[in-house]
Amino acid sequence: MKMPKEIRTHCPYCKKHTVHKVTVVKKKKASELKQGQRRFRRKTSGYTGFPRPKPSNQKQTKRLDIRLQCKVCKKKHIKMRTFRAKKFEIKRR
Ligand SMILES: [Zn+2]
Repeated sequence: MKMPKEIRTHCPYCKKHTVHKVTVVKKKKASELKQGQRRFRRKTSGYTGFPRPKPSNQKQTKRLDIRLQCKVCKKKHIKMRTFRAKKFEIKRR
């Protein structure tokens, strides 16, 4: 899927159509101090390593998190629900 770099859409903060910058949010590395990561480290430490086997039916594509940033008020918001795509790129002019 291809996406233009900028799109004109409704901004819920300005309450009108403005130019928005399109960005894809990628998953960040889990912080070692977060509760989930601490629990995971505790579970995987010592004997009987990994808590559960990896699921065999892993999905081929990843869900994309696309955010829009209003160029007028600089606020970020999500326009659409996350969707799956094998290939995704932002078109450059
Ligand atoms: Zn705005």
